[in-house]
Amino acid sequence: RLYEGRALSLDVWSIYNAVNLPADCINLGQGYMNFPPPKWVTDAADEALKTTPANHYSHPKGRIRLRQAVKNFYEASFNRSLDVETEILVTSGANEGQYSVFTAFLEQGDEVIMFEPFFDQYLPSVTFNGGKPVYVPLHPHTQGEKPTSNDWKIDFDELRRAITPKAKLIIINTPHNPVGKVFTKEELEQIAVLAEEFNLLVMADEVYDCLVFDGKEHVRFANLPGMWDRTVTVFSAGKAFAATGWRIGWLIGPPSIIQPTLAATTRIVFCTNSPLQEAAAAGLEQARERGFFATQNQEYQDRRDILLRAFDRIGMKYSQPEGSYFVLLDVSGVQFPEDYPFPKTIDGRGRDFKVCWFIANEIGVSSIPVSEFYCDEHRGIGESYARFAFCKDEDTLRMAGERLLGLK
Ligand code: GLN
Repeated sequence: RLYEGRALSLDVWSIYNAVNLPADCINLGQGYMNFPPPKWVTDAADEALKTTPANHYSHPKGRIRLRQAVKNFYEASFNRSLDVETEILVTSGANEGQYSVFTAFLEQGDEVIMFEPFFDQYLPSVTFNGGKPVYVPLHPHTQGEKPTSNDWKIDFDELRRAITPKAKLIIINTPHNPVGKVFTKEELEQIAVLAEEFNLLVMADEVYDCLVFDGKEHVRFANLPGMWDRTVTVFSAGKAFAATGWRIGWLIGPPSIIQPTLAATTRIVFCTNSPLQEAAAAGLEQARERGFFATQNQEYQDRRDILLRAFDRIGMKYSQPEGSYFVLLDVSGVQFPEDYPFPKTIDGRGRDFKVCWFIANEIGVSSIPVSEFYCDEHRGIGESYARFAFCKDEDTLRMAGERLLGLK
């Protein structure tokens, strides 16, 4: 079943990896920072490496210091006390946490509802575990003057029709990669009604929960009435502390979801890398006192605005993101020579793959083609967009903005 559909084709991150692009290309493609984690967090990693226990296996649930830090940090936002033994699980990045949930719960042919565009990893993670993705597009109602990520809407009749008796799980990603949409309470409440009616498990991928702009509110799906018992919420130290290579994440949910997922993760990775769990724990322990997340959020909003002002100068349309660190630019008008030397790796893919390749090579700024975040049937919606990441320092974003003027 690994050979089904797109699962074995080359992933978009490898195609647009910096090694395949000109050396001086500015990377606004794959979403990782060009600045280090905070020093007080990496200092904790250095300290951990000097101790013997932190260089050895952790408990498969995660190191107790990190589970305790997760408990203390998140209890307020979940409005409940969290049990470090049964309701928190440390994973090797958000990705492995999600994979382990699928391994624990999916049986052959179970359907998994996901909104398009979807973070590309969901697709193979579901199919490798025998599940069948069912796609429900977010529709871009972006014809207005200043569209935002909130103009990408769910058609709730379409969602209801997509849920068959085989549906087992629904994935909700808020703030959303790649749209930047922060789902409203009303939207989430409508999804909650369907989750209840069709008895669905819910994977709330909230890895960008610390990046919400313009005073918008992030609503935790698990906090909606009746949803705690069916929801697992996914977190990422990579996003929280600018440390995407650490591969540290955590899941929060009821014992009925965390316990089977623990059994899966124990057999997939056994445990997560130990010293960096200590560092992530230090991050959560000190974040409040240092006002870290409020400051970081403002920094990201400023970075976003630098990029958006650059797009304004070129006169190209985008959906202003309310969260995450991505922005979708409408590249449907960007022209390129048909005989441009495109690589074999993008043969047969959407027009946006060519646009992104062309912009990276001729303008010197990389981005990610958005059709990769759609199923083949709906790929046409994504082909109009390129995703630009703004998790970069301000000078880099300004320089990217100067270069993008070349698209005018
Ligand atoms: N989450 C990051 C992004 O969307 C990186 C994903 C990956 O490389 N697998 O850019």
